[in-house]
Amino acid sequence: MAASIEDIKKLAQITLRDKGFYSGNIDGLWDSGSNNAYADYMSHLSEGGQQLGEEGALDEDATIGPVKGVVVLDPGHGGTQKVGGSSPNNATSPSGVLEKTITLDMAKLIRKELNQLATQRPGSNLKVHLTRTSDENIGLADRARVAKAKKANVFLSIHCNGFNGAVRGTETLIISKQNGNVNVEQDRALAQRIQTAMVTTLKRHDPAAFDRKVKDHQRLGVLKDVHLQNPNTNSKTRACLAELEFIDVPAVDSLLNTGPTAKTVRKDLARSMAEAIIDDLEANN
Ligand SMILES: [Zn+2]
Repeated sequence: MAASIEDIKKLAQITLRDKGFYSGNIDGLWDSGSNNAYADYMSHLSEGGQQLGEEGALDEDATIGPVKGVVVLDPGHGGTQKVGGSSPNNATSPSGVLEKTITLDMAKLIRKELNQLATQRPGSNLKVHLTRTSDENIGLADRARVAKAKKANVFLSIHCNGFNGAVRGTETLIISKQNGNVNVEQDRALAQRIQTAMVTTLKRHDPAAFDRKVKDHQRLGVLKDVHLQNPNTNSKTRACLAELEFIDVPAVDSLLNTGPTAKTVRKDLARSMAEAIIDDLEANN
């Protein structure tokens, strides 16, 4: 009996997994995770790595073009003092991991994944900046002004929630049109890409992950268009704020911080968020 396309794709996924390039589901669905694993493997080969057997022969939808743009990642909070509306830290996990520490680690991971994805696409010109790279606090308007100074196409502020130790879920926030957002539909599209990426990845690692959706928000100084300089320019910065999860929940603490797969979950989350940002850059080119 001839193998179906799905069987061939499953075999390729198994092969890529066995070689350490793929950590997703063996489902025969050739999504971006499979695609990236294949791209990783091809760049490994071009560096003189061992060749994949013919069972890994793939069809042609793995073509990927160059990516261009400027991305500013904003790790929420930092330091020990409140600065310009930014508190040093909000949420804390049961094991004592601080939101400001997770946000910085995730920003660095997303930067790494973005740079890696760009390297795999010949002709790319992707610049990634962080509003902070150490444990310091920056005022909300000044964070947004980094995006303006760097002429960012995408500005992503990264945070974690905390509430009563039980409520959980993932959400992405934008400013509504009524609250002065001059490019709300662009922001909403970016936010939806980030939100889908986060929820899909977290659900893969934890069925209890929950989609709290993209939300308009009343007061988000860090996303204000006036600081991003959006009202005065044609090429507007697309901006949103990602709340990864409620880190005061023990199950989330295990998922992201203390559990045996926490490091993998963070990396997968960063990878999917980087892919979402690149999708958004491509869609707006
Ligand atoms: Zn926060």
